[in-house]
Amino acid sequence: MKAEVEMGNVVNKTPSRLWNAMHRYNPDAEQTVAVSGEGSWFTDENGKKYLDGVSGLWCLNLGYGRQEIVDAAAEQMKKLSYFPLTMSHQPAIDLADKISDLLGANYQTFFSNSGSEANETAFKVVRQYHHQTGNPGKYKFISRYRGYHGSTLGALSATAQANRRVKYDPGVPGFLHVYPPYSYRSIFGGEAEESDLKAAQMLEEMINWEGEETVAAFIMEPFISGGGVIVPSTKYIQRVTDICKKHNVLLIMDEVVSGYGRTGKMFGFMHAEGVQPDIVTMAKGLTSGYLPLGATAVKSEIYDAFTKEGKDNHLRHVSTYGGHPAACAVALKNIEIIERENIVERVRNLGKKKLGKLHQLIGHENVGEVRQIGFLLGLEMVADKRSKIPLNELKMAGIIGKCKQEGLIIGKNGDTVPGQNNVLIVAPPLTSTEDDLDFIVETLSTVIRSL
Ligand code: PMP
Repeated sequence: MKAEVEMGNVVNKTPSRLWNAMHRYNPDAEQTVAVSGEGSWFTDENGKKYLDGVSGLWCLNLGYGRQEIVDAAAEQMKKLSYFPLTMSHQPAIDLADKISDLLGANYQTFFSNSGSEANETAFKVVRQYHHQTGNPGKYKFISRYRGYHGSTLGALSATAQANRRVKYDPGVPGFLHVYPPYSYRSIFGGEAEESDLKAAQMLEEMINWEGEETVAAFIMEPFISGGGVIVPSTKYIQRVTDICKKHNVLLIMDEVVSGYGRTGKMFGFMHAEGVQPDIVTMAKGLTSGYLPLGATAVKSEIYDAFTKEGKDNHLRHVSTYGGHPAACAVALKNIEIIERENIVERVRNLGKKKLGKLHQLIGHENVGEVRQIGFLLGLEMVADKRSKIPLNELKMAGIIGKCKQEGLIIGKNGDTVPGQNNVLIVAPPLTSTEDDLDFIVETLSTVIRSL
């Protein structure tokens, strides 16, 4: 690939043959080719450095280039380069134990390679569980509009964002969607908490109307991430948990983004006292992105339905690479560092002290709402505060492009109106230095104020 530097950006002159990185709107747009990374920063092929303000795809919880993690992978690879989990190996056994400890109850874990697969596994576990506990009619899954649960067909069917689905629909039968706790544009009005609780009530209405004997599970991110960083009242999380219990609807908590410290708790659901999900899915921060790994942690009471005598009671699910020994060794080291360096507490403190300064931007006419939980922030951008019309794509792209020129990578998503991503995303590595965090706040504030 030939590349040329133009205003600090790399511009493809001959598009590469790599499909993934093809720009979504304009195939001729610049692509950044990274060559190295350290801490919160990566360097492109021209030597320009960028602060990765979105942690890759919100997965680099410990940032780039941790030698300890690299060593853990290499040592494990030398010892046992691969082994299938149709049998077992020690790193996977230890990691399953550790996950159960961290979740604060007895969970059994099935390993895969990604967040999408972790959710697919959860869906199969749920349907089979109901079959084996006398409720074969319970097959429907409910998720929220704006939620994101992955790119494979089942996970995409739970992902209720029109523009991600329109050319791939129809999805898998049996996936339904309910109104999210999105108080900024709520149809309910009232204070945020009141509006969130009404959104919770819609879940119960839906279960009743569908017939609880047909509803298998409710899947939610504690804080919707890919759908515009939506931070509900913790009472919402408690309320939907109670509703699920009441109707024998299993609660799948998608902690793919929010797990491993991102929100200032080890897992996002832990912000809501008394909540213990039936199933917790995770990936990303589980290994800080050093190697691919997904995990589906299932409460022991549910797992029991798969261990009863009978030839068809086991889970019919195999993953060739899921729980790869090197990935499990990396996850164990990653968790060890998160605990040793008190990363979760750090996120709580610096999230408030440093990134929290971004709340000051609420004074700007184009900033409709600043939503934050730990090191996960969404700035909902609008044409003006009164109309709340989403800021147009060109201006959004302008903000992101200007930040990039200044050496700061931020993201956008939201799908507030299908296809319109008017929420700016900031989610830096949890190990970002105080100077890094100041750089993010100053750069983004300057760019927005110059709008
Ligand atoms: N769940 C959530 C909440 C996610 O944000 C994502 C990915 N962004 C996924 C699931 C899917 O994970 P993966 O891309 O690893 O398949």
